[in-house]
Amino acid sequence: MESEAKMIDESGLRIDGRRVDELRPIRIEAGVLKRADGSAYVEWGKNKVLAAVYGPRECHPRHLQNPAKALVQCKYNMIAFSVTDRKRPGPDRRSVEISKIISEALEYVVFTENFPRTSIDVYIEILQANAGTRCAGLTAASVALADAGIPMKDMVPSVAVGKINDQVVLDLCKEEDNYGQADLPVAILPRTGEVLLMQMDGHMTIDEFNRAVEYGVGACEKIYALQKDALRRRYAIEEAEPIDEEPRRERAEMEG
Ligand code: UDP
Repeated sequence: MESEAKMIDESGLRIDGRRVDELRPIRIEAGVLKRADGSAYVEWGKNKVLAAVYGPRECHPRHLQNPAKALVQCKYNMIAFSVTDRKRPGPDRRSVEISKIISEALEYVVFTENFPRTSIDVYIEILQANAGTRCAGLTAASVALADAGIPMKDMVPSVAVGKINDQVVLDLCKEEDNYGQADLPVAILPRTGEVLLMQMDGHMTIDEFNRAVEYGVGACEKIYALQKDALRRRYAIEEAEPIDEEPRRERAEMEG
């Protein structure tokens, strides 16, 4: 984090025209992959994120099996063309860290004790990155888990709050993330207020931190509504599919 390009203008608007407490446009779609047990696609500003869930299935490596509960194993990956400079393929420190924090957040909501010895595998692929990909990834992953029909306490909405030009702002874009003063990704469950993710890079005063959490809570409520809406749309389509009456009619005719 370097300071300090001017990124908020006189009328309080940010470089992409948003107000300080405004989210980027978010679109969530559930059930986009046929081969996965559950999946979701999220477009969040210029981020494009795909999440796929497999399981509960036999846990590999087997020595990780837990006789009391399922293991939630997340793999967060940025693909080579997701960033401006080509990202070297394969895991690195950052992706290992992000995979760990997302696994932990998801493990908290899944009823893992229902599926002893198994693994629930969550793959997050960042197709295009523009800051906030861990939050978009976690948001997508929990929709994919619900789409897979895995019993869970709740879905997990997540967003990054931050500080630029001495002001607290919601949902940092890449320039704000790179040149801002602080970055605070959070995941807060709207129904209980539980905090499943909180990381911080940079500095804030206590007052700024409180404001940031307030922004985070409000945004998580909105994202949660979008997550639920994505699932509703997914299953509404299936219900609305026309039933093929022809075989039934033929059978009735044959039976006289
Ligand atoms: N980024 C990049 N190359 C990398 C890692 C990150 O260009 O190898 C960019 C990418 O746009 C990412 C942003 O930097 O979204 C911020 O990364 P950070 O580690 O803060 O995680 P994120 O905000 O994506 O959760």
